[in-house]
This record gives sequence, C-alpha cells and structure tokens, in this order.
Amino acid sequence: MENHLKDALEIRDYAKKNNEMFKESIPLIASENVMSPLALEMLLTDFGHRYAEGLPHHRYYQGNYYVDLMEDKVNEIGKKLFNVPQIDPRPVSGTNANMAVIFALSRPGETVTAPDLSGGGHISAAKFGALGFRGLNIVNYPFNEDTMSIDPDGAMRVIREVKPKLALFGQSVFLFPIPLKEMRDAFQEVGCSVWYDAAHVIGLIAGKQFQDPLHEGADVMSGSTHKTLPGPQHGIILGNTDDETWKKIQRGVFPGVLSNHHLNTMAALGVTMAEMIDFGEEYARKTIENAQTLGQELHSLGVDVFGEKLGFTKSHTIVADIRKFGGGKKVAERLERCGIILNKNLIPVDKNKNSMDPSGIRIGAQEITRIGFGKDDVRTVAELIHRAISTETPDDVIRKDIIQFKSKFNEVKYCYGKEAPYDYITLFK
Ligand SMILES: *Cc1c(COP(=O)(O)O)cnc(C)c1O
Repeated sequence: MENHLKDALEIRDYAKKNNEMFKESIPLIASENVMSPLALEMLLTDFGHRYAEGLPHHRYYQGNYYVDLMEDKVNEIGKKLFNVPQIDPRPVSGTNANMAVIFALSRPGETVTAPDLSGGGHISAAKFGALGFRGLNIVNYPFNEDTMSIDPDGAMRVIREVKPKLALFGQSVFLFPIPLKEMRDAFQEVGCSVWYDAAHVIGLIAGKQFQDPLHEGADVMSGSTHKTLPGPQHGIILGNTDDETWKKIQRGVFPGVLSNHHLNTMAALGVTMAEMIDFGEEYARKTIENAQTLGQELHSLGVDVFGEKLGFTKSHTIVADIRKFGGGKKVAERLERCGIILNKNLIPVDKNKNSMDPSGIRIGAQEITRIGFGKDDVRTVAELIHRAISTETPDDVIRKDIIQFKSKFNEVKYCYGKEAPYDYITLFK
C-alpha cells in the first residue's frame, strides 16, 4: 500500500512555516485578523465533527444536546452585543450570509441596487457573483471619488428611478459611514428592504465606533466574522424586521444556502462576541485611531492617501494612490518581500484597468491593533513602508529590521487572558 505520510507532513510543514512567516511580518490586509486563544480553542473541539441542521431544539439529528445549549448562548450574546432582536449566526461565511439574504428577500428578475465594484463593492454584489447568480437585475449607485463612498443624492435618485426590491449598501473598501438616515425618505417612498453588508466594519459596529445600521434604517445586516470582528472565518446575519421577514431569512439560511452550519466556528464566534462586549469598544476605538494615524503619517511622508480633508478614514481602512512609487502591484510585492503584507487595490483612476495591476493599495489597521500596536508603533510602520517603496535598500535589510520590531508583539489583546482556562497550544508559541 502506498503511504502518503510524507505528503501529509508536508502540509503540516506549510502550516508551520506560514505561522512563522506571519509572526515575522506586519499584517495589514484589511479583511484579516487573529482570534483570541479561547476562541481558537473552540476550533479544535468535537463540535467541529458534528452536524446540526435547523434551529436549536428543532433538529433533524440526535446528539445535539450541547450544540443546542451552545447555539442558544451564541444567540443571546450576539443580540446583546449588537442590541438587536434578531440574529442568525449560522452562515459559514459572509458571502454565504449574503446569499441567504438574497434568497429570502428577492426573486429572479427583480431589481437590486448596489455599490459598484470599482467603488469598493464586493464580488458577491456583482453580476458574476451571488447577486448575478440569483438572476437579479443589478443597478449601481453613482460614486463620489473625493469621499471614496457612494453619492447619497445620486443613490436616492437611482432608488426612486428603478424602485428596487432591495437596496444594498456596504463595500470592501469602506472608509466612511453610509448616510442611511438621509436616504430614509427614498427607501420609504419605494418600499424597498434596506440591506447593509457590514462584512468589513462589523467589529467597529460591535465596538460602537462606527454607524449603527440597524438603528439607522437598515432592516437586515450581514457580515463576515473574521475581518474587524476578530473571530473565526464564518458569517452572521442580524435583523430588525417583522417576524415574517425574519422567518424568510432564517429559511434562506437553512435550507436555502446551507445544511450543516460548522459548529466549531459558531462556538468560536460566540466566544469572540463575548470578548467584544467586554473589550470591543477600546479595540475599535484604537483601530480607527491607528488607521487615521497611519494615513496622516504616510501623507506626511509624501504618499497620496485618500481623504485628507476628511481625516483619511473613519474606519479601519485607508487607501492610497501609489502610482508615484510604481503602482499597486510593484509596491505590494516589494513590501511582501520586506515582510509587510497588504494588498494592491483598484482606485477610481483605474476605470477599465486590469485588477492585477491597479494604481492603489489598501491598508487595514485592525490586526496590528489587535496584537498591541499603538500610535508610535504605527508611525514606525509608516516609516518602514516609506523606506521600502522610496529607497533601494535591499529587501533583506528592511526585513531584518521588521523581524526585530515585530518580535515585541507576541500577544493577542482585547480578549480574556490568564483568567480563561486554556488547555491548547497558544497562538504565538
Ligand atoms: C469580505 C466581504 C464579504 C464576504 O466575504 P467572505 O469571504 O465570504 O466572508 C461580503 N461583502 C463584503 C463587502 C466583503 O468585503
């Protein structure tokens, strides 16, 4: 019999090397984060082997006694964290959550209004993504290049004109809140459901440092739970709707777009949300402060960061036009070789340009905040970025400095510490 132990161990070795690589790098991808030790422990439990279809106490399988108790508790914590009456923590990713909302609230052929991809919209809101897959007619909002956000007057005009069934808001390049309250009249005139995709900013919403969509006129909010919310790779839907609409959404989740809902990640999500109740406000405040500081510092060093007049950002993200330094691809690759991980990104000047070589970069401050970076550390990050993109210093020289600098940060903050009873392998050991 053939033995593939060698192959299996090779995979294990890649995991180990990846751990080491990130331990020695500065992580600035705006959609990533690290989990707390207690949340991480949940991923290794028996929950990860089990099936539970449906809702707690109404299951199709036996063996769900503790799953039901866990899921009840996750629901209770989530409602408290977001101060909302309705929660569905079963979607296994943000896109999966979006599909459930689409499944529940629209039918093929109906019209949905959504942000444009070049305006920071997500692929799940595109013709060739989940909205298109449902056979929906997608109409985009006009975009304001100065604020890097949708133009609210233009959006209201579009909504009044095409009378969508569903008005979707929320981007993957999400710098400023969306003026939902200002647009309320248009929503009411047309009678559309208002859907807020909070994938990027839900951790800031949980920490009460960004807008609170479900209390500003949105009916339903979907999200990923691993971007600014520093939890497992999973999804969530929260609502402030009538019972009938909410039932449709729950049926959209199951049996609409999933069967089993990944119980270990759901348990980890519950732990993360409990930690956010206790530590989320400070984490979210520092995250935004760090993003703003990074914007200011890079700007002072001559980098064209968007939104100078608006304070660069009110979220975890900043965006820069990096053409002066060779463009998004060249810059992101050089930074990666030096140990700074971020992504190239399309910006408004890139209309019709290949997304493999865009003019911008996107930077997120949530993960470095999570591992303890303060203002001075962020200034160091800006200097390191600037040095890498504006000098010929060899990769290795900068890399060495980064490894040295990063070695101070070997803990996850804003979570339960020694009081939590871990019996697992700690994240950074
Ligand atoms: C990241 C993202 C999603 C969903 O992402 P998943 O990877 O499926 O969790 C959805 N919408 C927006 C705006 C996003 O940025």
